Amino acid sequence: MTDRRVQVAIVGAGPAGMLLAHLLAADGIESAVVETRSEDYVASRIRAGILEQSTVDLLHSCGLGDRLTREGDRHRGIYLQWPEERHHLDFVDLTGRSVWVYGQTEVQKDLVAARAAEGQEIHYEVSDTALHDLETDRPSVTFTDASGTRQRIVADVVVGCDGSFGPSRHAVADPATWEKTYPYSWLGILADVAPSTDELIYAYHPDGFALHSMRSATVSRLYLQVPNETDVAEWSDDRIWDALAVRLGHGQDGWHLEPGSITDKSVLPMRSFVSAPMRHGRLFLAGDAAHIVPPTGAKGLNLAIADVGLLVPALVDLLRKDDPHLADAYSDTALRRVWRCTHFSWWMTTMLHATGDPFEEQLRLSQLRWVTSSEAGATGLAENYAGLPIGF
Ligand SMILES: Cc1cc2nc3c(=O)[nH]c(=O)nc-3n(C[C@H](O)[C@H](O)[C@H](O)COP(=O)(O)OP(=O)(O)OC[C@H]3O[C@@H](n4cnc5c(N)ncnc54)[C@H](O)[C@@H]3O)c2cc1C
Repeated sequence: MTDRRVQVAIVGAGPAGMLLAHLLAADGIESAVVETRSEDYVASRIRAGILEQSTVDLLHSCGLGDRLTREGDRHRGIYLQWPEERHHLDFVDLTGRSVWVYGQTEVQKDLVAARAAEGQEIHYEVSDTALHDLETDRPSVTFTDASGTRQRIVADVVVGCDGSFGPSRHAVADPATWEKTYPYSWLGILADVAPSTDELIYAYHPDGFALHSMRSATVSRLYLQVPNETDVAEWSDDRIWDALAVRLGHGQDGWHLEPGSITDKSVLPMRSFVSAPMRHGRLFLAGDAAHIVPPTGAKGLNLAIADVGLLVPALVDLLRKDDPHLADAYSDTALRRVWRCTHFSWWMTTMLHATGDPFEEQLRLSQLRWVTSSEAGATGLAENYAGLPIGF
């Protein structure tokens, strides 16, 4: 067993873990990261694509905003739609805040490049990760590295940024958990075609929800509501484009959906999950390790980044000034924001997905008409979608 001593041991090199390492380094705190997957695998996972204002501000503040400014696409708002009607909500007019289209893949590449430039210790392709002595002031993480050597990292603090399947969440004694599984999934595609819209279209349709999103000027990202357990093989490219055309209103008021070559197809289950507290002794949780939201509100990645934004000052005070106040408050402070985003994601999901229940369909239409015709309704959606301040 090789032993190593750092201030912070981070489990998981996704956006939460890598941003945490980056921000800690800026405050002079040394960390080591362990990750089961390869660097390329983590960087190429197609996931989130919308950054809210606070995320963009945080990335700029720590030197990670250059490519985002050059290659990202600032959006003023979104379109909300149901059969025969499409309305634009302008977040900038409503709240003074906007969102950016910039893929999680790109955020991850920027983080990896910034950490590589500073020689960050990252162990990729590890196995058998285990957390130890979390209730002492010498917690540790053990793992088998890519060459088969057993290693131990002894730290002052361990942070679990290991997503929904990692071991960290299970190290919290007697957590309270809340979970909701939705009775539908998303079929998501990436297509080599210019987006048919300037901003995202969220469409309710009796056949099911559809979303027209994008990754760049030449790559579109689109989603269809499908039943749970859908086999992607049942959905030919033609069937996908036909369903998207119907649900997104091809031909309505002269609008056309341009189909293109599909390069990626996958089915995503929809789940809400919260585990509390987000701290156990010298273990802190951040990101998907503590909570999952359905993607309808574009909150998963943003919430992971907000957790890190709250955790860093807490760890800096704890490790540099021996001041535990922010660390002691971290779980409650983070969970307040987690529940706001959990509610918003659930609200957007239930407002936009079809269930086949005629009573619920009328409620959905009533809610959509209110959100798009009342300034108060529109502002509520805009404030949540463009994102509340990290310290909310
Ligand atoms: C398929 C999919 C699609 C998504 N689409 C969207 C979307 O459209 N919009 C949106 O806002 N959000 C989306 N999300 C959510 C968003 O991607 C996540 O919220 C975000 O990745 C959270 O970042 P994280 O760093 O907390 O966790 P992750 O990105 O999951 O990173 C956790 C890391 O920990 C590593 N790990 C796990 N176990 C161990 C272990 N034992 N030892 C060491 N390392 C370990 C994992 O390999 C992983 O790299 C999607 C998520 C998924 C899974």
